[in-house]
Amino acid sequence: MSEIAARLGQQVLEHGYKLTREEATALAAPEVDVYDLMYWAHKIRRKYKGEEVHACSIVSVKTGACSEDCSFCAQSSKYKTNSPVHDYLDKDRIKAATAAAKKQGSYALGLVAAGYGPKEEDIDKYVEYMQAMDEVGGVEKHINIGIMNERQIERLKGAGMVCCGHNLETSRNHFPKICSTHSYDERVETLKALGRQGVKICSGGLFGMGETWADRVDLALDLRDLGAANIPMNFLNRIEGTPLEDSKPLAPMEILRTVALYRYVLFDRDLGVYGGREVNLRDLQSMIFFAGASAVMVGNYLTTAGRPAEVDRQMVRDLELQFAPARQLEPLPAATKDV
Ligand code: SF4
Repeated sequence: MSEIAARLGQQVLEHGYKLTREEATALAAPEVDVYDLMYWAHKIRRKYKGEEVHACSIVSVKTGACSEDCSFCAQSSKYKTNSPVHDYLDKDRIKAATAAAKKQGSYALGLVAAGYGPKEEDIDKYVEYMQAMDEVGGVEKHINIGIMNERQIERLKGAGMVCCGHNLETSRNHFPKICSTHSYDERVETLKALGRQGVKICSGGLFGMGETWADRVDLALDLRDLGAANIPMNFLNRIEGTPLEDSKPLAPMEILRTVALYRYVLFDRDLGVYGGREVNLRDLQSMIFFAGASAVMVGNYLTTAGRPAEVDRQMVRDLELQFAPARQLEPLPAATKDV
């Protein structure tokens, strides 16, 4: 048993110990056995998250033609991809997506839109969308529409938004290498504003974009300090036409090591393996729960297809875990440290 994996695992498990940057970096070293890391990450998940799996779904309410140049993204107008392009969906499509999410066993439906962020008049649209979701009921209302100011967040919260998603994607250091049209700090400011407004924060990253282990650790620490309650971990699904189309895919065991490391650092948060799960992990998908994951996305992703929701439901049943019902969580305290 790797001594450091056991010692730090025990401390997190028994005392809710917050790892330092040096300790988290040490866990990522190749000489630390990944199965030892997973052994402890699994225990930590069971202690802090129990046997429930949070499954959520998304619907892309406005797709493609984005002004930004995120180098992994099929929806950027800067790249020639096969991504669909459409303007805002009508309310019936939102109702249908809500009903489908409920049927799939998801506790939440996230409304997602491409773009830098909403204009003031776009907020009216989301208010209407949330009313449409209420008419169906049964799932939490989550929104992921880019960079927002405090006033926009306040309006969405007033209309029933429970959680707001906005990924940091990668570390502060690596971010300029994947996006030049906006900054890491603009994303951080949105998360800080969400924290001040008492909105639950869903924020995570995309791995496999040439980042180092130090970048992965930095991102985990920033997410911890910003009070992210849900941490989506996405793994690059290489899209033809984007600058990252020829990136080397991460090996499945490296993905599981990354998930386990995040469970050590973010021991009490919901840690989800979302985009790129099927294509990158292949037969090892169910091992995400042994590595510490407590959430999955079911159904399709933004511009790529997921596997049938029933296959995921069966996987969760076979592991003798259960999907969590819709619930209203209290947000974590706003950022305690300057990030
Ligand atoms: S990730 Fe979002 S902001 Fe970046 S290009 Fe894609 S849709 Fe636009």
